[in-house]
Amino acid sequence: MSGEVLINLTPMETRVAVVENGVLQEAFIERSRRRGIVGNIYKGRVVRVLPGMQAAFVDIGLDRAAFIHAQEVMPPGSPAEDQIAIGQLLHEGQALVVQVTKDPIGSKGARLTTHLSVPSRYLVYMPDSPHHGVSQRIEDDRERERLRALLETSQAEQSLEVTGGFIVRTAAEGALGEEIASDMYFLLRLWRKVSERKVTAPAPSVIYDDLPLFMRTLRDVMRDDIEKVRIDSRENYVKLIEFAQEFMPHAVERIEHYAGERPVFDLYSVEDEIQKALGRRVQLKSGGYLVIDPTEAMTTIDVNTGGYVGHRNLEETIFKTNLEAANAIARQLRLRNLGGIIIIDFIDMEDTEHQRQVLRMLEKSLERDHAKTKCTGVTELGLVQLTRKRTRESLEQTLCEACPTCEGRGTLKTPESVCYEIFREILREDRAYSAETYTVLASQAVVDRLLDEESAAVADLESFIGKTIRFQVEIHYSQEQYDIVLM
Ligand SMILES: [Zn+2]
Repeated sequence: MSGEVLINLTPMETRVAVVENGVLQEAFIERSRRRGIVGNIYKGRVVRVLPGMQAAFVDIGLDRAAFIHAQEVMPPGSPAEDQIAIGQLLHEGQALVVQVTKDPIGSKGARLTTHLSVPSRYLVYMPDSPHHGVSQRIEDDRERERLRALLETSQAEQSLEVTGGFIVRTAAEGALGEEIASDMYFLLRLWRKVSERKVTAPAPSVIYDDLPLFMRTLRDVMRDDIEKVRIDSRENYVKLIEFAQEFMPHAVERIEHYAGERPVFDLYSVEDEIQKALGRRVQLKSGGYLVIDPTEAMTTIDVNTGGYVGHRNLEETIFKTNLEAANAIARQLRLRNLGGIIIIDFIDMEDTEHQRQVLRMLEKSLERDHAKTKCTGVTELGLVQLTRKRTRESLEQTLCEACPTCEGRGTLKTPESVCYEIFREILREDRAYSAETYTVLASQAVVDRLLDEESAAVADLESFIGKTIRFQVEIHYSQEQYDIVLM
């Protein structure tokens, strides 16, 4: 297996592609406009103490002062009844290191705390907390024990002194010891930097912000089998090298500035593959295809043979198609970043050995996935059920919105249905009001149909109500939209 990471940077967005053996496997996209400031740490200055509210305003260098409550200034875990007056905790003009817990919205400033924490992929570091812990969402007792033990062994391995506490995040379920140790290493190095800045930085200023996507990627997807990282921005290449020298020295020599003629996402047809990953249908080499339908409750994947399959080798063809599908499905789940319940409808197979092999192929292909997947069995109807841990939003959610024409249903009423709706509506109006003529405003397709296939029905209706019906095309109307005007 040989892997490569391609990074495409523009001022508006960052896109990262993970390619394995020449095939796009994973894509990450971050839009600059959507990045909030939650998690950022600032050295701020108290501008006003509000004794009545047990709170204070802090200037952190944004347009509007941020807000902090006394509870967030006292040591973590202090009981509410032991509250100390805000005036004794803070005074105007004081420098204060704070972290944002809520983005500013409209006229409301950001919300702050002094209880600092920084996350990595598997851990959260809390420099002021004396305890280690494991996320409650990891329910299996043995796994909790294993992770807790890993924290201890990782701590013993560190070259830096470990103060404060680490929380194991839900994402760490199943993580390797070396992964936990390298996350801890990363966070301790990071914290050393932040601590230096806490002292030297002026107030107000940012002393830590969440890593931009291209740096996070290096931290999160850099494994030994990634041979090359190509980044198409000279300026950020320099930043990435500096970051790697600091935190991931083993990665430095694999990072390259891409200065090719073609856009970096044209390599390995990444751009095309992303487009395809938004479609429902996935073509298989064997001639079969997948149909992938994400819904709110689950994602269903239907496996189909292509076209006519002769009787002679039917079982063999089906087996081959299902095998190929199993592999393709694992890739699509990763690429589209689909989470939650996944139901796969493979083509029915008689041979139980074939069934077993297809399942085996699916499980094997899923092993490469970073997100935790679990095959929860085969249902009575022969459907294969999986769960995949939901992390960020799916590729489709990042790039698309529900179609405004069909409001996300994916289908529209036919012009025929709309015509009949219009007829019923005219009859209803005619009973209620007396008008000379009716004018129907509708889309081109509907008006065309009214004047052509439905013209006899229109004539019947006109004679039945004894009035004239006129039609007018409204080019901005969707196929389902119409209005009836009385004159
Ligand atoms: Zn639509």
